[in-house]
Amino acid sequence: MKAHDGMYIDGAWRPAAGRDTIAVVNPADEQVIAEVPAGGAEDVDAAVRAARAALPAWAATAPAERAARIAALRDVLVARKDEIAETVTAELGAPLPFSQAVHAGVPILVAGSYAELAASYAFEEKVGNSTVYAEPVGVVGAITPWNYPLHQIVAKVAPALAAGCTIVLKPAEDTPLTAQLFAEAVHEAGVPAGAFNLVTGLGPVAGQALAEHEGVDLVSFTGSTAVGRKIGATAGAAVKRVALELGGKSANVILPSADLAKAVGVGVANVMGNSGQTCSAWTRMLVHTSQYDEAVALAAEAAAKYGDRIGPLVNAKQHARVRGYIEKGVAEGARLGAGGPDAPREQGYFVSPTVFADVTPEMTVAQEEIFGPVVSLIRYEDEDDALRIANGTVYGLAGAVWAGDEAEAVAFARRMDTGQVDINGGRFNPLAPFGGYKQSGVGRELGSHGLAEYLQTKSLQF
Ligand code: NAP
Ligand code: MG
Repeated sequence: MKAHDGMYIDGAWRPAAGRDTIAVVNPADEQVIAEVPAGGAEDVDAAVRAARAALPAWAATAPAERAARIAALRDVLVARKDEIAETVTAELGAPLPFSQAVHAGVPILVAGSYAELAASYAFEEKVGNSTVYAEPVGVVGAITPWNYPLHQIVAKVAPALAAGCTIVLKPAEDTPLTAQLFAEAVHEAGVPAGAFNLVTGLGPVAGQALAEHEGVDLVSFTGSTAVGRKIGATAGAAVKRVALELGGKSANVILPSADLAKAVGVGVANVMGNSGQTCSAWTRMLVHTSQYDEAVALAAEAAAKYGDRIGPLVNAKQHARVRGYIEKGVAEGARLGAGGPDAPREQGYFVSPTVFADVTPEMTVAQEEIFGPVVSLIRYEDEDDALRIANGTVYGLAGAVWAGDEAEAVAFARRMDTGQVDINGGRFNPLAPFGGYKQSGVGRELGSHGLAEYLQTKSLQF
């Protein structure tokens, strides 16, 4: 695949300071498809300087001009959506139809939403005898993971640009080609030089240098809780703003009045999409004891139907890790309803869609984020029991509630310690704030709440 051998800094592709490279691997066949430079502290420094130099002018542009540039960026993403989908499929392994609909489709929606918000947001308001200005936070260091490689970039870059911030992006080492394609799109959209910069590289090298850089005013991170905790500590020590979008172990609560077959079917699909590599996936399915056996049979059938249509996991490490979790589930006494730890193919990092039954709330597979196509069915006795189980992890990112009556589902959802809940299969909304309670993170992305993360207020009294 086509790859740039430099960093996108100050509006141009520039050679990296060092010679290290990252091999990009197609996880479906384990072949190296490209190499990109592995940047270090020097590259990060050059990118941060470029972003800082570009900040005053970009921060001072009229919101309508920023809106126009983001709209142009959306249009480039639309024009290049097939290329985006093919690139994501090549480096992440997602089946092409999923890449087209989700990996290419959702960023277009999100970029479009920020083109509109940049134009309509109240960057100035009167409060009593004050005028309050919402001003850009400054230079943003964005560190993104590989699981939704373009969405996670756009969910940070679009609102940051809308706010008037400038950005340095360090994407995941597994998916740098999508990030390079995005940099091309930013360039084509006419975003001024230095407003957006890309440094590809390894997390503990380029990522850490970015998080620690004095010239960065806000670090926005999406990824594992372990790295997020470290980045939060670094930012805290420097009294620097930080946004953390971390893991999840979300509950899909099926109340007895629900349409069981629909709730189980949608619930299994929610986990298997993107091969289970979704932070907000409903990986725990909570079913009333009276419906439990039927739910297990339905879930096993739904998972088996996925068969070969599921993509591989992103890399060998995740492959070993997820299969290790499945073995651990079996060792702790959970029963396999479908799938299992054996690799279904000789080549590629594939894992069979797996359903665990007889899972108790304290088992490892019910507590830790697996990040693979594994759903655990847990039984509950009554609603209070269901709530205790649903809230009984360190995470609180997402969830679902199913009931015959919407009001009944809403009443339950209001008691859940989590950032978003889909009611009876509610659709994704790119304007709804996305983010976690508890250890799922700090801050919100998307919509006007996501824009506010990149703003700070200045009050003038009269
Ligand atoms: P990760 O290490 O947290 O990766 C996320 C991003 O942080 C990547 O760009 C990574 O670079 C970078 N990074 C790593 N160490 C860093 C450091 N010390 N300082 C600054 N940046 C650093 O996640 P992972 O290793 O890819 O995945 C491990 C687990 O994290 C998964 O199994 C899953 O449970 C969870 N995860 C959650 C999400 C989510 O959306 N919430 C996304 C991905 C993973 P490299 O790419 O070079 O490592
Ligand atoms: Mg990592």
